Amino acid sequence: MNFPIAQRIADLRPSDIRLMTKECERVGGINLGQGLGDLPTPPLVRDGAIKAILEGQNTYTPSEGVSPLRLAIAEKLKRDNGLDVDPDKEIVISSGTTGAFAATLTALLNPGDGILLLEPYYGYHLNTILLNGLEPQFLTLTPPEFSLDEAALNAAVRPNTRAMVLCTPSNPSGKMSSAEELAIVERVAERHNLLIISDEIYEYITYDGRQHISPASVGRLRERTVSIMGFSKTFSITGWRLGYAVADAALATAINLVNDLLYVCAPSPLQYGAAAGLQAPPEYFQSLRNEYQRKRDIICAGLHEAGLTPLVPQGAYYVLASIAHLGFADAKTAALILLAQTGVASVPGSSFYQSSSGEGLIRFCFAKDDATLHEAVKRLSKFRV
Ligand code: PLP
Repeated sequence: MNFPIAQRIADLRPSDIRLMTKECERVGGINLGQGLGDLPTPPLVRDGAIKAILEGQNTYTPSEGVSPLRLAIAEKLKRDNGLDVDPDKEIVISSGTTGAFAATLTALLNPGDGILLLEPYYGYHLNTILLNGLEPQFLTLTPPEFSLDEAALNAAVRPNTRAMVLCTPSNPSGKMSSAEELAIVERVAERHNLLIISDEIYEYITYDGRQHISPASVGRLRERTVSIMGFSKTFSITGWRLGYAVADAALATAINLVNDLLYVCAPSPLQYGAAAGLQAPPEYFQSLRNEYQRKRDIICAGLHEAGLTPLVPQGAYYVLASIAHLGFADAKTAALILLAQTGVASVPGSSFYQSSSGEGLIRFCFAKDDATLHEAVKRLSKFRV
């Protein structure tokens, strides 16, 4: 039967991540394209979930999540993000950060609304925007600084723009929003009455002593910001599908309504594992930073040696490398040639841009074990244009 798929699916923009993964598998290469998170899950988190299963926490939970996790998150928000939040009314536990993002768009925006996306962007953000019938509106940030300019941001706002997505630290650029940039966001958002949706999944993966700043903690941004956070990267549990949204009570109620319809609730025993993880001592979070910073330095040194120019990330676990000087037709050609020559898979920068600015970039993920990273660096050193 030839049954047509929905237009909203046909409109999606598939990224080249899956293509590169397939090609990498075909040639038996090392996949630095996709980010799965390869560090071990802390025993505290793992054992918290196992204990919950053994104690019979295996049924549906309230759609907003179990109370011990919401309480632990409220404490964490106060301690690490400078946010005072009501655990009963302002936190919604969801199925992954991606789930919280999707529920937020559906709950708070209408089809046809414009939503600003800073490029380079995370592909899931764009496709979830399209799936919700929203109009993505792009503002290109320029490497190597990827700084936000107030005049450019004001100019990017159109009559139907209702919201703006922030991602700090950013996937794919690693850029962290500075206090000055968030002050710009506050001014522009107030001027145009925009909702801010802030993806902070990499908040604990920051380098060179930099401090993550939660947009909601800046000035009056709290009332118009939905903070989207999670555990996938912090505890290396990408497969657990746990995340949460933090917002003003009225917004959180709407988000939770959609959350209930989409997922019913997040996986019950895993919520207890995450609650246990939030009690981890500060040393855990410091060692996470140190570990990824070491990996970042290994890959950046290797990229330099291969004649690619790494744009050293401030946070998250990806690095964009500039290939503009190498004369390839486009980023996809460059990534495929690099894979064929060295057996190392990356992702073409075009996957993160609407404009042609991504054609001079490729992205590598360094959330890999050390042996894999060292082997990748060895192979990259053989790259010849
Ligand atoms: N947000 C960003 C910016 C990401 O890079 C990723 C994963 O790569 C996610 C969200 C996914 O988070 P989760 O596993 O909590 O859905």
